[in-house]
Amino acid sequence: MELKDRASVLIIYTGGTIGMKEDPVDQTLKPFDFSQIMDEVPEMAKFAGKLDSYTFDPIIDSSDVEPRLWQALATLIRDRYDEYDGFVILHGTDTMSFSASALSFMLNGLSKPVIFTGSQLPIGRPRTDGKENLISAVEIAAAKDASGHAIVPEVCIYFGSKLLRGNRTTKINSEYFNAFRSPNYPPLAEAGIAIKYNLPVIAKAPEEEFSVHTELDTRVSILKIHPGITPQVVRNILLGAETRAVIIETYGAGNAPSAAWFLDIVNEACHMGKILVNVTQCLQGSVNMDIYATGKRLKELGVVSGYDATTESTLGKLFFLMGVNKDNDWVKKQLCESLKGEISK
Ligand code: ASP
Repeated sequence: MELKDRASVLIIYTGGTIGMKEDPVDQTLKPFDFSQIMDEVPEMAKFAGKLDSYTFDPIIDSSDVEPRLWQALATLIRDRYDEYDGFVILHGTDTMSFSASALSFMLNGLSKPVIFTGSQLPIGRPRTDGKENLISAVEIAAAKDASGHAIVPEVCIYFGSKLLRGNRTTKINSEYFNAFRSPNYPPLAEAGIAIKYNLPVIAKAPEEEFSVHTELDTRVSILKIHPGITPQVVRNILLGAETRAVIIETYGAGNAPSAAWFLDIVNEACHMGKILVNVTQCLQGSVNMDIYATGKRLKELGVVSGYDATTESTLGKLFFLMGVNKDNDWVKKQLCESLKGEISK
């Protein structure tokens, strides 16, 4: 599992803290250009293979990420797929889990690594985490096994010494270097003196040819249940004419209020044909709508289980599935399948 000579990696720079500098006028962090990132990491010159870069215009704070960035990323990877052994995407941490999740569904038949990374501290700061994240992400993107196949043919996030399946991640920390966690799936690799790959949990390269799906339907809302939630709020979100699907973030194992008004609105939304997905607010564990009466009622009304998926992953999966097919019943069936290792059942 040595880094093969002449492995080629494309670094795609979208923005984020890793490439930011303090603006002398208002002291806020703003993105700067990619050549300055490379100036800060002279170690990259030692990379044995070919290293190219592509910079998005404009480079952004990832709070400004929109699905059109995902479409542009997917298209870029499709266009340059045959030229490179792997791809590293430099991206802000705030929405990195959303982007990595969406890309995991949009890139089909992936046999090469697509590694998102970034940093908590700008790469120009003395204590930056950006250097290690970038260098290791490139090494992982270039890594092949003895027969020349990519070790990690998946969309991942490399951050804070861990390689995580992208569609299993969530940002859990705004201050410390371990910003991401994959609460329901083990790390695919850990970096110490060497990068140790956990091969049994890494996806195998699929048989089908690589293809990219860029059609997304974004008519999704998120309803977070909380004590005191009002009928007006629930009605506005669940019955909104522009909403085709709603992710309901429920308590514990998938439980929600048993009040008649709440169940009536859920019932009405289901009868309107909307797709309602139950995702737990808990960081760890799965929805199981058979345990409590409050969960069971949702299932009987037609709410679909999100199992142990994150909200970020469910959002990307819905955008993707709804973009593929106009039939909501088909989408509901697909939601219950693990398409890219995003749920365990
Ligand atoms: N606001 C930044 C971003 O997401 C935070 C970061 O990169 O860590 O672009």
